[in-house]
Amino acid sequence: MYTKNLKIVYIYVKILERMEKYFREALSEAKKALEMDEIPVGAVIVWNGEIIGRGHNSTESDHNPTAHAEMNAIKEAGKYLGEKLGYRRLTGCDMYVTLEPCSMCAGALVWARIENLYIATADPKAGGCGSVLNITGEERLNHQVNVHYLPDSELKTECQEIIRNFFRKKRELQKEEKILKRISEDITL
Ligand SMILES: [Zn+2]
Repeated sequence: MYTKNLKIVYIYVKILERMEKYFREALSEAKKALEMDEIPVGAVIVWNGEIIGRGHNSTESDHNPTAHAEMNAIKEAGKYLGEKLGYRRLTGCDMYVTLEPCSMCAGALVWARIENLYIATADPKAGGCGSVLNITGEERLNHQVNVHYLPDSELKTECQEIIRNFFRKKRELQKEEKILKRISEDITL
């Protein structure tokens, strides 16, 4: 009994270690987006223990409203598996993403046949995997994605903070701009 419990703990620790490793990679993608002044979201796709697709949000720099981290990662992974094995889907692949995917990306994950989706932090305003809509778990569609959340940890806080700070700074900038505009209007009057 004692040995069995130890084994379960060992497996759990190994799963957490693996999750942390891939989430760190997703976070490093989010940081790339931040450097480009894009909304800092990052994603990686893992197949047979190997990262075959990486993506970060690039909607502004690509002038493409669909260039979310998940879409960019799916594109890269699809190219890899397509060229290597002639696959047209991502069957057997898992995604690790720093923020809950939106409805568009959740739909793409279903179409791509992603098996497991690991999310660092929920998006109560736009999440398509249970928060606002539940596209990944919609039983009327012919594929469901297994959704797992990163347990509370330093890493989870880091994934939350990167996006919170980004929007906080944007709001502060907007406030400053408004004040400056008002001052310049007053001066003109
Ligand atoms: Zn999205």
